[in-house]
Amino acid sequence: MKYLDEYRDQRIARLLADEIARRITRDWVLMEICGGQTHTIMRYGLDELLPPAVQLVHGPGCPVCVTPLETVDMAIAIASQPDVTFVSYGDMLRVPGSRSDLFRVKAAGGDIRIVYSPAEAVKIARASPGRRVVFFAIGFETTAPANAMAAWQAKREGLKNFSMLVSHVLVPPAIRLLLRSPRNRVQGFIAPGHVCTVVGYREYESLAREFHVPIVVGGFEPVDLLEAISMLVAQLETGRAEVENQYARSVSYEGNLPAQRIMEEVYEVCDRKWRGIGPIPGSGLRLRAEFAPFDAEKVFELGETCVEEPAECISAEVLQGLKKPVDCPAFGRRCTPDNPLGAPMVSAEGACAAYYQYRRHAMPS
Ligand code: SF4
Repeated sequence: MKYLDEYRDQRIARLLADEIARRITRDWVLMEICGGQTHTIMRYGLDELLPPAVQLVHGPGCPVCVTPLETVDMAIAIASQPDVTFVSYGDMLRVPGSRSDLFRVKAAGGDIRIVYSPAEAVKIARASPGRRVVFFAIGFETTAPANAMAAWQAKREGLKNFSMLVSHVLVPPAIRLLLRSPRNRVQGFIAPGHVCTVVGYREYESLAREFHVPIVVGGFEPVDLLEAISMLVAQLETGRAEVENQYARSVSYEGNLPAQRIMEEVYEVCDRKWRGIGPIPGSGLRLRAEFAPFDAEKVFELGETCVEEPAECISAEVLQGLKKPVDCPAFGRRCTPDNPLGAPMVSAEGACAAYYQYRRHAMPS
């Protein structure tokens, strides 16, 4: 299959790994941002193919993992109301809130529907005028345009029974936070290809300049990631710190301009709390004032809450690349996909779930 088979070719993967091994002269710590990339690394054992001098750590790029506990609790409170139909991507249902999760609300009779696109949520609202339909709009820049389109469409149609609980986050402010941390040990980043397909990679240039850190926009197949790592190692070994684009078959410098226009029309940038990490200035998107009737936080007036993560869960350190999932004492014992203590064990893109699925043999005994 074009654009798939060649990017899973073992021979090319081996050649790239050999090239990295030939070029490298010292240890480097690299971070892939996106959870989809983490899963490819684990699934294909790319970290084991690379020379030991390359250490891969995993970033905060799983949207389910970074959705704040308070927002999950808010979703549960809204979904529990008898006149509400709550619509969500499937991953969010098992994410633990502080006391419950959406699956339990559904099991108790709550009207919770799983969809694959926000347009389906609008369709449900259109078909159910007697219900208040709320869509859980989470994710990075990747899902923001389609979710924005749902609010835009609802406004255009004058739907009175549709709103969105918005928890969108932006990647560059999170990278800036990691790089500013005195504990940071990441020396090069694989930027998320899907995010950059939407927004391009212009914004990453200031990060590369300010922190003298190389950034390579990478794809999601094994050869994509090995090529991105090879490009990072080439930069690091020669003292360069530039933004390069490995995923050129999907990503352009400017990104998808119509998608950016709809985001601009519907959202404004806001400060956002990231689960496990805390507040990051300018790292979120919220609905603009013109879309207030479609903003579930305003419609339901639930107010602000502040809740603590379970003390056992070290997801904050996992999401910042300071520790790996197998360093967590609960990994594979108290915390499994069937009984998750933290979001990174739930999500299809979570680092803990990736280690559990592909690397259980690495569990400490
Ligand atoms: S293994 Fe579970 S408890 Fe540990 S960091 Fe991952 S999600 Fe949290």
